[in-house]
Amino acid sequence: MRLPPETEVIAPVTDTDIDRAAALVGGARRLVVLTGAGISTESGIPDFRSPGGLWTRYDPRKLTFDRFCASAETRRLYWEMGNDLFPALRDAHPNTAHRVLAALERRGGLLRIITQNVDGLHQKAGSSPEAMIEIHGTALEVGCLTCGARQDRGPVQARFAAGEHDLRCDCGGLLKPATISFGQAMPERETVQAFADAAAADVFLVVGSSLEVYPAAGLPRAAVESGAALVIVNREPTPYDDDAEAALHGSSGETLGAIAARLGLAITDA
Ligand SMILES: [Zn+2]
Repeated sequence: MRLPPETEVIAPVTDTDIDRAAALVGGARRLVVLTGAGISTESGIPDFRSPGGLWTRYDPRKLTFDRFCASAETRRLYWEMGNDLFPALRDAHPNTAHRVLAALERRGGLLRIITQNVDGLHQKAGSSPEAMIEIHGTALEVGCLTCGARQDRGPVQARFAAGEHDLRCDCGGLLKPATISFGQAMPERETVQAFADAAAADVFLVVGSSLEVYPAAGLPRAAVESGAALVIVNREPTPYDDDAEAALHGSSGETLGAIAARLGLAITDA
């Protein structure tokens, strides 16, 4: 009997699912991983797009890149939002899923971790900067829109809190958190590299992404079209589940923890 849609249940992750995913991930020689908001919600970082998330409290249409450049009032609002957001990101701890991915890099066979997140938790878990592509930038740094100089965000956010409301670089350029804003071009070098890595992957693992936001959502397509096996770990079904060798609908931490246990992978505390 078919269940009516509103009571449709998502099948739990089975031992067979874990075995299949572990065999693929463990056997990969060029593993490429894509991570999204779902891997960091388990570190207490809310999905900005979820109900009650950042973009339901601040109107993203008022915080586009063009407005940021054009309006001192928008910049003030943007940095004010940072007062809310930055301490939570700065103080967050990686969870089991981040640590398993760092362990996979140490073990060998991992080509890249491409993340849609701006929280820096992969690096806190021990992933090397060389293995990372932060396709939406990082909220832990600030960049100058004129000279491109980067610096840690903490001291800049502190300047705002102390009353400096239009933050400028030594060169006079506008300072902006080093994230990709609405209406801002994706970083070209990182995007090109991410698609090249996806095409080079033999196994492409998605963790905690609903695969709905482009261009990141195009990466599993590029991987599958180049012959990679696709493995998806996400609480909810995704549009790519039918293309996947294994689609596991569960918690990122528990599921990756179970895969790591099958592989005998040592997970160290960050
Ligand atoms: Zn500058």
